[in-house]
Amino acid sequence: MKKLILILLLSPLLLLAQPKVTLQVLGSGGPESGDKRASSGYLIWIDGKSRILIDFGGGASLRFEEVGARIQDLDVILLSHLHVDHTADLPTLLKSSFFTSASGHLHIFGPDGNDQMPSTKSFVKRLFDDNDGAWQYLGDHLDGNARLQLKSHNIAMSKKEKVIYKQGDISISAVSVHHGPIPAIAYRVNIGKKSITFSGDMNGDYHTLEKLAFKTDLLVMHNAVPKNAKGVAVKLHMTPLIIGEIAKKAEAKAVVISHRMLRTLGKEKETQCEIRRNYEGDVDYANDKEKYTIPLGR
Ligand SMILES: [Zn+2]
Repeated sequence: MKKLILILLLSPLLLLAQPKVTLQVLGSGGPESGDKRASSGYLIWIDGKSRILIDFGGGASLRFEEVGARIQDLDVILLSHLHVDHTADLPTLLKSSFFTSASGHLHIFGPDGNDQMPSTKSFVKRLFDDNDGAWQYLGDHLDGNARLQLKSHNIAMSKKEKVIYKQGDISISAVSVHHGPIPAIAYRVNIGKKSITFSGDMNGDYHTLEKLAFKTDLLVMHNAVPKNAKGVAVKLHMTPLIIGEIAKKAEAKAVVISHRMLRTLGKEKETQCEIRRNYEGDVDYANDKEKYTIPLGR
């Protein structure tokens, strides 16, 4: 009985002790230049600090500075896959770190390679290696000579989810998703009792995201193709119907639709109808710099 009273007394304090977690969309667009959006990029703020980046496509670095994020506060970068619209601004971020107090290890996670794409480790090496990297003058960030060291990690392709990172109350899990022939990863970021899950680009064929995202507070899903998409497009991307099916199976508390492209922009009503065939929770359509504090609506 005494124990129960103590728990009841402490529970409001435990809630207060939960960190404040906010997702900020850096880039809500895809690879086109005509969508007037930065390419894919997301930032997780924890107690007011910019701690975790997910993807960093073209334009995301400008958004990063516009929203007041600091490189020196970053712990981890999670790459869903290595397409240009998810990675192009990484060199900008690394170079600009020189002008800050950023130091220690900045971890980059991404998929292992196949015959279509390099592994994440190899990708980072090809960009910055001080012998033969494209930007070899930034090689100090790999070899121990600069204050900020990039530590890259490959995530093996697997339909079994795996914890890839733990630090304090942050725990990050990853699982493979189907994005045509391109190795691709979905991530779930747990911070205390709160969670945000990122689909990345995928078409749903592996049926892994619904498990990874089970009861997540916020599920960020990529809407790169419209209702009647066919052919190669649906081998790479999920239709709105599949978005709704996955969100329902996952029992996601809310969904944010991102990676919006010219072929899906302006079709939100149609997309929403398709999603609503299965999923009844909150659905929001992302714009650059929009913020979502977890849990939504409180
Ligand atoms: Zn993409």
